[in-house]
Amino acid sequence: MRIGLTGGIGSGKSTVAMAMVDLGGALLVDTDAISRALTLAGGAAMPALSTHFGRTLITPEGALDRAAMRDLVFRDPRAKTALEAILHPMISVETARQAALAAPGQLILFDVPLLVESGRWRRQVDRVLVVDCEEETQVARVIARSGLSESAVRAILAQQATRTQRRAAADAVIHNEGLTLEQLKDEVRLLLTSPLL
Ligand code: ADP
Repeated sequence: MRIGLTGGIGSGKSTVAMAMVDLGGALLVDTDAISRALTLAGGAAMPALSTHFGRTLITPEGALDRAAMRDLVFRDPRAKTALEAILHPMISVETARQAALAAPGQLILFDVPLLVESGRWRRQVDRVLVVDCEEETQVARVIARSGLSESAVRAILAQQATRTQRRAAADAVIHNEGLTLEQLKDEVRLLLTSPLL
């Protein structure tokens, strides 16, 4: 069983992912971590990125300057297409490599922050699991975790799919609102035994 896990920033997606590993023995494939590793200094995507985008988007250490890239992608949709054309095939190869390590019958959990936004993920998983909560809760959690300003968090939220869009794509939803971390784990336990997955 291949499950795609998604949720807006601060929804509790990473916390649910950990619980699925601890309680359900899932193999976690973290696509965000894969993408980050590809774009660190010495990362496999760096030669192609520096050829295409030039030195201005590379830090002195040789990593992708993520803030500069975010700005560029925001201003120029062609840059986004070019970035994705380089990164997506590499992410796919590494994702498949990690998923192939699953034991027979082991649940494979793909943590994909932008699953709903990207579209290409839907047909690669058997089920979509969405972690959902109120926007105000997302904002409060992310401020507490990262120290980002409220306006910075709201700007990130505005770029992500809406709660309605995400829930429409879901086979199962964990509503992470008004729950303690222990109660959230109980929700995961329940889900692991439910026919939804
Ligand atoms: P995401 O991966 O969706 O951005 P995280 O799982 O990292 O979100 O959760 C964001 C923050 O909120 C973390 O610090 C996490 O510990 C906290 N958090 C998430 N859910 C709960 C909860 N039910 N109760 C208390 N804290 C929570």
